[in-house]
Amino acid sequence: MLKYYNYDIVFQEIPDEVTLAVNITGCPNNCPGCHSAHLRQDIGDPLDERSISALFDRYGADITCFCFMGGDANPYEVMRLALFIKKRYAVKTAWYSGAEVFPENFNTSPFDFVKIGNYVEELGGLKSPTTNQRLYCVAADGSMTDITYKFRQKHF
Ligand code: SF4
Repeated sequence: MLKYYNYDIVFQEIPDEVTLAVNITGCPNNCPGCHSAHLRQDIGDPLDERSISALFDRYGADITCFCFMGGDANPYEVMRLALFIKKRYAVKTAWYSGAEVFPENFNTSPFDFVKIGNYVEELGGLKSPTTNQRLYCVAADGSMTDITYKFRQKHF
């Protein structure tokens, strides 16, 4: 089961979207210089159909995108819940993974955006010109376009 620590409506994580970003706990990655050590703990409330529906009842009218921040301990559950959202709500879905590569047989089709790449302090996050992380836009046919450059555009 996935658990989440907190959430926020944000404008920077996914370009041109108003995003409800949910911070998932139990992160299995061990990025040196981790910026969110609390997210590595097994804490928080269950993230499931029920809690997601409650979030949509409260914020659904205000957002254009729902983003799973983390969830690398159970990426197939992230995928399953993204599919639930896609079938039920008219919003885009995104996944911020801290892994270096996608898991085997991972299906990106329930997502409109996926971010991949662990956090390397000296390379920086998505806004850094030297970052190792990538944000992709996923098309209906499953093809992925690297849109990381958008984080370095002045208007965003
Ligand atoms: S992905 Fe890396 S930086 Fe992010 S919470 Fe996990 S260990 Fe920390």
